[in-house]
Amino acid sequence: MTKDYGEYFNIAHIEPQSQIYGPGERFVVWFQGCSLACDGCWNQDMWSFKSKDLVHRGHLLHSILNASGIKGVTFLGGEPLQQSENFWWLVQNIKDQSNLSVFLFTGYENDELTQLGHFENINKFCDIVAIGPYRSDRRNVNQQWIGSDNQIILYPEGSRELIKPQQVNQVEIVIESDERIRILGFPDENLKI
Ligand code: SF4
Repeated sequence: MTKDYGEYFNIAHIEPQSQIYGPGERFVVWFQGCSLACDGCWNQDMWSFKSKDLVHRGHLLHSILNASGIKGVTFLGGEPLQQSENFWWLVQNIKDQSNLSVFLFTGYENDELTQLGHFENINKFCDIVAIGPYRSDRRNVNQQWIGSDNQIILYPEGSRELIKPQQVNQVEIVIESDERIRILGFPDENLKI
């Protein structure tokens, strides 16, 4: 399934700088819309394909290329590959115009990615890919970047990224200027703030 918003992305959230969604400081984009319905998904408010924040793909590219102090950009959701036409346009342009690494999280399995014909672009434009649905019965909070241990971290053929995930649990706590607090990542149930 793909959803067409013309040259616009349907975006759930953007974090201009984060350290827990891949190697180094990264620009992180959560897409709005996912039909995969993983049991125990943490981001169920990102399932709806109803327009949330429509951002022109050229505007998002500009924001990423002009972000300061980042090593790469990470896409998750929602399901980035359900807005695949614009997604592949964006990451091709990121790769052509910068040295930023690209980390894609997808809930599709390997064979589904093959059937959908995504591996050519994955190999050309992605540096790291987290593959597979979140499964609550395989939840593992001690793996960097992924939430359940059925998920695979792939370094595609064209990857320029050398840093590998470690056995750690990372959580990021963001305190806004108005003192609102947001927690990013997959916190242990015992985390209290
Ligand atoms: S692919 Fe991601 S956003 Fe979609 S249901 Fe699964 S965990 Fe949730």
